[in-house]
Amino acid sequence: MIIDSHVHIGGPPKESEPKNFAKLMKTSKIDKAIIFRYFYDKPTIFSNRYISSVVEQFSNQYVGFAWINPNEETATKELKESITKWKLKGVKLHLEMHPTPLEKLRKIFNIAEKYTIPICLHLGNDFNQIEILSQEYNVKIIIAHLGTGVYCLDINRLKKAIELAKNKNVFLETSGNTYPLVDYALKALNPTKLIMGSDFPHEHPLVSVKIIELLKLSDKNKDLILQKNILQILEV
Ligand SMILES: [Zn+2]
Repeated sequence: MIIDSHVHIGGPPKESEPKNFAKLMKTSKIDKAIIFRYFYDKPTIFSNRYISSVVEQFSNQYVGFAWINPNEETATKELKESITKWKLKGVKLHLEMHPTPLEKLRKIFNIAEKYTIPICLHLGNDFNQIEILSQEYNVKIIIAHLGTGVYCLDINRLKKAIELAKNKNVFLETSGNTYPLVDYALKALNPTKLIMGSDFPHEHPLVSVKIIELLKLSDKNKDLILQKNILQILEV
C-alpha cells in the first residue's frame, strides 16, 4: 500500500478535482491520500466543509485534514467543528502564509491534544515556537516539505527541521524536495521519521514515490515511509 500524505484537492487546475486525482491515484497505484484545501480565495470554513464532502464521496481513497488560519477569532471553533461534525482527521497550518504568535498556536495544540489529531505544519520562521510546543503537548506533528518549503532546497532549514524531528512526536514529510535532501534527512534521522508526500498538484505523486524507492533502504523500511508511519500517526 502507498499513501500520499500531502495532496491539495479542488480545482483549478482540473487535475486536482477530486475525481481526476482519484483516477491518477489508480493509474499510479496509490491507495490513499491525505487531502487539504486548494482554494486560497475563500474562507477556510468553506474549504473544510468541501474537503469533508469530498471524503464522504471518496471514503476509500481520501483522508481529510482541516485547514485553519490560527490567527482568526473563529479558528478554535472551526477546528472543533471540523473534527466532530465534518470528521476531518487532522489539521494543516500554513505558518509561512499565516505567521502566528505562540499563544494562539497553543489554542490549536490544545484541541489537537484533546481530540488526538495530528498537526501538519508548513513552517515559516517558527522553528523555535514549534520546538516549545512539541515539548509542551503530546501531539503528533508532521513538518511538511522537510521544513524547507516548496523546492527551496534550503539545507539550513532542513538541519533545523531535523533537530525538531529528534522529538518522538515530530515527523518530516518529503514533498517539495529533491532526492539528495530526502537522503540527507534519512541519514540524519531514520526511516521511522519520514513520510512520503507529493504536494500535488505541485508535483506528480509518482515522482515523490520514486525518490523513496531510490533510497538505499530495505523494502520493509521503504514501507515505513510510504505508508506505515502515517498510518501510525493517524492511529488507524
Ligand atoms: Zn502543500
